[in-house]
Amino acid sequence: MNQPTLSSQETLALFQRYVIGNYRRFPVVLVRGEGSYVWDREGKRYLDLFPGWGCGLLGHCPPPVVRAVQEQVATLIHVPNTWYTEVQGLWAKALSERSFGGQAFFCNSGAEANEAAIKLVRLHSQRPKYKIITFEGGFHGRTLGATTATAQPKYHEGLGPLMAGFMYAPFGDLEAVRRLIDEETAAIMIEPIQGEGGIRIPPPGFLQGLRQLCDEHGLLLVFDEVQTGMGRTGHWFAYQREGVTPDIMTLAKALCGGLAGGAMLAKPEIAPSLRPGMHAATFGGNPLAARAGLAAIQMIEEQNLLQRAQTLGELFRQRLLELQNRCEIIREVRVAGLMIGVELALDGAPAVQACMERGVLINCTQGNVLRLLPAMVLTDQEAHHGCDVLGEVLEELAKKNMNNFRS
Ligand SMILES: *Cc1c(COP(=O)(O)O)cnc(C)c1O
Repeated sequence: MNQPTLSSQETLALFQRYVIGNYRRFPVVLVRGEGSYVWDREGKRYLDLFPGWGCGLLGHCPPPVVRAVQEQVATLIHVPNTWYTEVQGLWAKALSERSFGGQAFFCNSGAEANEAAIKLVRLHSQRPKYKIITFEGGFHGRTLGATTATAQPKYHEGLGPLMAGFMYAPFGDLEAVRRLIDEETAAIMIEPIQGEGGIRIPPPGFLQGLRQLCDEHGLLLVFDEVQTGMGRTGHWFAYQREGVTPDIMTLAKALCGGLAGGAMLAKPEIAPSLRPGMHAATFGGNPLAARAGLAAIQMIEEQNLLQRAQTLGELFRQRLLELQNRCEIIREVRVAGLMIGVELALDGAPAVQACMERGVLINCTQGNVLRLLPAMVLTDQEAHHGCDVLGEVLEELAKKNMNNFRS
């Protein structure tokens, strides 16, 4: 199976006939990945500045994770959570020690981790408290609960009635949050930096303000670190940039070095509210995910990759700010470690397409924010090459747009 046997056209035809078309896909079949590169069926190589939609924080096929998984897969793949495994215990300890000393519930995805958080909030809160405040432009996943938590109307269309008990506040507006709190409010749930919402970094003091509101009103503070966590911002968790500690935190995406895995961590005084029988995930914390998760943490520490994420982030910031100076279609550059957003004054899809044609993969979110979530193992040279290509593409786009404008 390692050698593809079908042409790209044949693979596309399989999807056309047999795979539900709920994704917009590029007409490209990928066959192999290594570090910051992927190769397509035709042998074309791409520099991937958006590996695995944020899951590839350690690059494609990070060797320590590959080795750990290869060993584990031949030893024990899966046992249910009616038994103990050493590796799940060690994984929980490793996450707890690098965050706020909480306890872990393991699952398989970000949406699932957020569902667990929503259930824990409801189970822990005394009635009448049950409502959760979330933020406009936020993203928490695609299950019905997580979709309801996601305060973006475009994701709600046609799905109603949604889950009861969510209130939406503008991102960054502390007074609006304060006004929404009533005797039924149980929690505030937020991404410390919005990812899908366009790499939006909250104004200084905002997260502290939320912590204070939670303390004043007896609410739980839930941080969705599915995209920001595991070193993405140059800190293990984005909340550590601001010294604001949540009561509950959710993780997935890069958690297992590219394999599927999710986790919710909760402070020890809250965690027991997730009582036996009230929640579960069959594959959650399985030995493969756990070994991969441990190997990912070890790789980040052995290779000093948190520091590397900060250094690389500064390289991108400098290059992109320089580019902004000579390219008037760039409205704003937003960087937090390896979360990088370039907001354009126009639709970003043509830039993504043009970069791809030149062998560089990036993403566009919210219509006009180019999003880069590069791997920590990216080299300076690769980063510069990516910025060179992006620069060429945006300058051409600016020129073309100017001509359109004049004609
Ligand atoms: C991607 C993402 C999710 C959803 O994760 P899935 O694994 O796709 O369910 C939730 N929250 C945030 C902040 C994300 O970026």
